Amino acid sequence: MRSSPWMRALRACAIAAGTAAAAACSVSAPGPHQNAGSPPTAADVKTFLDRANDTMHRLGIAQNEAGWVQQTYITDDTNAIAARVNQQYIDAIAGFAKEATKYDNVDVPADQRRQLNVLKLSLVMATPANHAEAQELTKTMARLEADYGKGTWCPDPGKPDTCQNIDAITRTLATSRDEKQLRAAWEGWHGIAVKMKPDYERFVTLSNKGARELGFADSGAMWRAKYDMPPDDFARELDRLWGQVRPLYLKLHAYVRMKLRQKYGDIVPAGGPIPAQLLGNLWAQEWTNVYPLVAPAHADAGYSLTDILKARHVGPLDMVRDGERFYTSLGFAPLPKTFWERSLFVRPRDRDVVCHASAWDIDMADDVRIKLCIEQTAEDFSTIHHELGHNFYQRSYKDQPVLFRDSANDGFHEAIGDTIALSVTPEYLVKIGLLDKAPDASRDIGLLMTRALDKVAFLPFGLLIDQWRWKVFSGEITPDRYNAAWWDLKLKYQGVAPPAPRGEEFFDPGAKYHVPDNTPYMRYFLADILQFQFHRALARAAGCTSPLHRCSIYESKEAGQKLNAMLSMGLSRPWPDALEALTGSRQMDATAILDYFAPLSAWLDAQLKGQRVGW
Ligand SMILES: [Zn+2]
Repeated sequence: MRSSPWMRALRACAIAAGTAAAAACSVSAPGPHQNAGSPPTAADVKTFLDRANDTMHRLGIAQNEAGWVQQTYITDDTNAIAARVNQQYIDAIAGFAKEATKYDNVDVPADQRRQLNVLKLSLVMATPANHAEAQELTKTMARLEADYGKGTWCPDPGKPDTCQNIDAITRTLATSRDEKQLRAAWEGWHGIAVKMKPDYERFVTLSNKGARELGFADSGAMWRAKYDMPPDDFARELDRLWGQVRPLYLKLHAYVRMKLRQKYGDIVPAGGPIPAQLLGNLWAQEWTNVYPLVAPAHADAGYSLTDILKARHVGPLDMVRDGERFYTSLGFAPLPKTFWERSLFVRPRDRDVVCHASAWDIDMADDVRIKLCIEQTAEDFSTIHHELGHNFYQRSYKDQPVLFRDSANDGFHEAIGDTIALSVTPEYLVKIGLLDKAPDASRDIGLLMTRALDKVAFLPFGLLIDQWRWKVFSGEITPDRYNAAWWDLKLKYQGVAPPAPRGEEFFDPGAKYHVPDNTPYMRYFLADILQFQFHRALARAAGCTSPLHRCSIYESKEAGQKLNAMLSMGLSRPWPDALEALTGSRQMDATAILDYFAPLSAWLDAQLKGQRVGW
């Protein structure tokens, strides 16, 4: 799921558990002379990598076991155990990352060089070698996280019982249609970030220092180095992808603006940016909550999968079996017996658990599980297919060295689950006996609109978070322009404006979790692009001749083979190799999004006659 990275040992540095883990997820740069004896040899590298793989295997399993128990049985003790094991894991990987730099100039086979790079790039933040500065950075990060976690808005500071946390504010943004109320809640939440600015500024300085000591130009360059190409080339790739989908986004934006103007009046300018408080989400990142305001007439699907599941008494286990059958129909082996014995499928009645959906590979081999509290809803039916995508990925790469048991880049894992969810079409539901007859094509616009408000609306947001951070890290955006630059990017990419001018007394980027938590965000943009590219390639392999949004790869062994060819590579090869194994292309390509939404795009053209597009 997009908001919270799934559990994966090698990504300990990105776990959004709200613990001190992320702050501690760092390494001190090595001193200039760590090796007074003879220079290291290729044999030393082999010994080192064997030790690193063994240790990360052992500690990874321990971390998964402790994490699983903690999340399925929350007590003070399981929290303490998980935190302790997590810290051991992080300390170990930080040590290995530092040690790996000793072998920068040793001549070794390509796969060993790649493992060394994986270790060096497993960090999100590098702390400076100077001990006092390292400590200051860790404390600063912990404070930033705490400021976000404890953030509340108190409409009447004299009455503490009026204070609202993020859940309550999120609900207001999603459901209220009262502009004044929406604006107050939006401004209320953004107020929590005001005090973060000095800490963030200091964090940028210190983390950059650590990154430079590791040989990177700055922390942003260190993040971009993960993508198997020169950092600047990667940034250009992203611009190219955005250029492909931007015309479709502009149309969706213009249509939603027109409908919101009908609802809210002149506060929504006819040809300008959309006020950020009106899009159903605190960051205007997904717009599905305004669907009732923009719904095309006579275009609902004509059936409700949620109602069908309930009427036919399809229970949680049945829903998971349907999901498994999707993958076995592609040629994947059935899930192991332990999956059914050890997963968590329903909310237990006797204890607290973390119900947020996630997928696990406890032993980094066969002991795969999912954890979610299944309700009989269409959403959960789709989520099950998504989470199982993680499990089948994990099992496909289990024979790789431990350091390569991950997706080809950090966009791929999320993209796979979503790719499969795109195959949950009406035709698929007919095939598995849940639906008698698929609705005719005239009903597709409603479904495509819902999906566009989620996936197309998200693209510019997914792109701009790290555009801002990369420029902040590089110094192109200076602290006296933090907020102005943020809103420049929001305007440029999203066409969204704040309810009233926001000066430098505010720090609006801090109101988005991933900024104070320092979690990189570009993976979500990549996943959004890749899932449609994967879906199109697999649909072609399956011989689907329907419009792309009606294609399901269910029962296609040809699609299954292509999928498995990519999944089984794990992280062992640069991601263009993995992409090629599935799609035949080494380049990311956002035109699959245009293909998928082609009927909606034509429909939008008809709605927008005489309307201004853009802002
Ligand atoms: Zn996921």
